Amino acid sequence: MHLLQHASLQNRSFLLIDKAKKNQNDRTWCFWETNPGLFEPIVHHRWNTLHFFSSSVERTMQIAPYQYKMIRGIDFYNHCLAYISQHSNVDILYTDVTSISESADDAMVTTTHGTFTCKHLFNSIVFKPLQPQPGKFLLLQHFKGWLIETDVPSFDPGTATLMDFRVSQEHGTTFVYVMPLSTQQALVEYTLFTPALLQPEQYDAALRKYITEQLQITGYHIRHEEFGIIPMTNIPFEKNSNHITHIGTAGGNVKASSGYAFRYIQKNSAAIANALAAGSDLSAIKISAAKFSFYDSVFLNVLTHHQQKGADIFSRIFRSNNQQSVFRFLDNESSLREDLSIITSLASMPFVKAGITEIFKQKNPMF
Ligand SMILES: Cc1cc2nc3c(=O)[nH]c(=O)nc-3n(C[C@H](O)[C@H](O)[C@H](O)COP(=O)(O)OP(=O)(O)OC[C@H]3O[C@@H](n4cnc5c(N)ncnc54)[C@H](O)[C@@H]3O)c2cc1C
Repeated sequence: MHLLQHASLQNRSFLLIDKAKKNQNDRTWCFWETNPGLFEPIVHHRWNTLHFFSSSVERTMQIAPYQYKMIRGIDFYNHCLAYISQHSNVDILYTDVTSISESADDAMVTTTHGTFTCKHLFNSIVFKPLQPQPGKFLLLQHFKGWLIETDVPSFDPGTATLMDFRVSQEHGTTFVYVMPLSTQQALVEYTLFTPALLQPEQYDAALRKYITEQLQITGYHIRHEEFGIIPMTNIPFEKNSNHITHIGTAGGNVKASSGYAFRYIQKNSAAIANALAAGSDLSAIKISAAKFSFYDSVFLNVLTHHQQKGADIFSRIFRSNNQQSVFRFLDNESSLREDLSIITSLASMPFVKAGITEIFKQKNPMF
């Protein structure tokens, strides 16, 4: 989609390979942004007000100039496929990719329908599971969401709950998102940042408990379910090479400390398309300053060694900082002054210890 925005790339031909037809509503993306993005026409719902809850903090935040937006997977796939079908320089092939490789001049994709050669390959497949590495951290953000419809009006469709930590923290950092779409419909998502998954029935039990006890809703129907696992890690993903650029999750575009990925992927894809259109070097693309990977490592270090600390960390961040600064920080777009304010609100022994440990692990200058 980003490549197709550039007139100067209209004379290039693209082959898009995917094993799936993308005709299922397999995920819902939520993210904040200030300006209309490339996918504005398919934003399903948006919120200008967000709640944050924990046992020590209750905050209602007006987030302008940000909006918190939701895009449904199926709308995204239909929109992209319809747009792509208007471009005769793009072919789509539905097949399994078994491997990718490169020679001095080209990249190769091997599929169950043969091998294809191209000048440049953009890969979004994670071929090998991430392997634990000494000094690196791997947590999973795992969540189960129910789109529920209630018997009586129960929600304010103008206000979403970004994080509600008033749930048991027995498994580690755990919270719930509530994203109302109308007075009687909301997506409720039970989310954990932990090293291991729960049993399927544990997610369901936690959702039921939250809906009845916290939201105090008794009459409701589940209209749709989703489950997801997102890696939160500082283990490096595959490196880009002359003819292969890894994108999406495979390109390391998931914010290691929050699991948010949609906006990073868009920023990265836009930067790639701009560089290609300008004929500049793709290997020079950098969407975030190095200091942010340091912050992510410190955060992962603390969450790994103090698994119950997540509620306290996010409570301190949201209690003491302006919400727009927090969004910029989580988007890797904050100034050093904003960083310092957030870091100061977190100053405590685990952070100081983790910060010192991670400084010594850094190979490259951060600032
Ligand atoms: C349920 C869910 C909800 C999420 N919600 C949010 C959210 O609210 N906000 C946010 O910021 N992030 C969210 N994420 C994280 C992230 O934004 C998504 O995972 C995003 O889809 C990642 O994009 P991607 O291109 O890396 O991977 P994908 O979107 O998974 O695309 C990879 C593609 O590769 C294809 N593929 C895989 N293997 C092969 C193969 N061998 N051969 C051919 N094709 C193959 C797949 O069919 C797929 O189409 C969510 C993730 C999940 C799973």
